[in-house]
Amino acid sequence: MKFGGTSMAGIERIRSVAARVKREAAAGNQVAVVVSAMAGETDRLVGFCREASPLYDPREYDVVVAAGEQITSGLLAIALQAIGVPARSWLGWQLPINTDDAFAKARIGTIDTQALDASLSAGEVAVIPGFQGVSAEGRITTLGRGGSDTSAVAVAAAMKADRCDIYTDVDGVYTTDPRIVPRARKLAKVTYEEMLELASVGAKVLQTRSVGLAMKEKVRVQVLSSFTGEDAPMADTLPGTMIVGEEEAASQENGDVERQLITGIAHDKNEAKITLTSVPDTPGSVASIFEPLAAANINVDMIIQNIAHRSSASSSATDVTFTVPAADLPRSIEALNQAREAIGFGELIHDMRVAKISVVGVGMRSHAGVASTMFTTLGARGINIQAISTSEIKVSVLIHEDETELAVRVLHTAYGLDAEEAA
Ligand code: ASP
Ligand code: MG
Repeated sequence: MKFGGTSMAGIERIRSVAARVKREAAAGNQVAVVVSAMAGETDRLVGFCREASPLYDPREYDVVVAAGEQITSGLLAIALQAIGVPARSWLGWQLPINTDDAFAKARIGTIDTQALDASLSAGEVAVIPGFQGVSAEGRITTLGRGGSDTSAVAVAAAMKADRCDIYTDVDGVYTTDPRIVPRARKLAKVTYEEMLELASVGAKVLQTRSVGLAMKEKVRVQVLSSFTGEDAPMADTLPGTMIVGEEEAASQENGDVERQLITGIAHDKNEAKITLTSVPDTPGSVASIFEPLAAANINVDMIIQNIAHRSSASSSATDVTFTVPAADLPRSIEALNQAREAIGFGELIHDMRVAKISVVGVGMRSHAGVASTMFTTLGARGINIQAISTSEIKVSVLIHEDETELAVRVLHTAYGLDAEEAA
């Protein structure tokens, strides 16, 4: 069981988490709990480090910011004991959770489960602070912001847990953003790959890294609501969304609704579009555009190169359009202008007012016509497509930002995702 910062924000909430853990343990489950710091606490601790010195030593930063989870793990153990549940905390260095020494963004290597196994076998609930580990030299490390999801998946993998239940402030993963489409449906199951695509295009439920780890380690992850009372359904009845491998997702057991061709629709307004006009149509010219961007560590997403037009008797030229993260637009423009002579482009045109809409689903691997449905649906509403990119399980288009909500709504209907009744 993993609880986030909102669930740990204050003793009252920690008490209800304890009650929730008690129910699961009383139902006969062996439970390890991974906790976040109280909401806002990590920000506060990061602020202290910055205030102490803008050039802080990351090794000491980790000592400071790991403290938030140390506090909540101890408090939850106390709250569990207070309601008669044997419990103890296990800090990252005590287990240990071994990481590399990339302080502030460490990666987990191995987790020693001997102590944990013994603790669970003895009937204790083990409480583990998320986000933290220990380096080979015995120094405290942290995993990067939002890292306690990754801690939970890593602990579940190491212990060969039946499930990693992530309690959060939504009750599952939806076909799309329910604030835009009230008829969005909660998904009973979603595959790791779909979840990764949905997360990378803006459906933020879990830290993306934790989904990648779950896929690699085949950990069954459930996203479920932490905001429910005594009468909340038991986690074993799978009330949330299960993130699983393709085989399990395809099975019709557990009363799953018929699997749709498309699983979800995501939108992302955090990209910017750049067009370079009249780029010489010669070998190496595209490389001369993307090399300076790569050197500046800028992630290019969608790319289109148009057909070349003869610009003079001897040479032909083409326009190249691509997208970068909106936050990197100024740096991208600078890098491209510096390389202007080497690239030899005419004009640089940029546009922040774009949105990327993606339809995602493993079903499209074996079905034709997914992209065509998308283009037809958008075209019928007068929505212009500015760029397209695809993967095996995703089709993305770039459109004007103002048309985001309309596009998501009409696509949700077109792919048959609307629920009978509004959520
Ligand atoms: N407390 C850490 C953070 O706020 C880790 C987490 O909550 O996932 O980033
Ligand atoms: Mg989180």
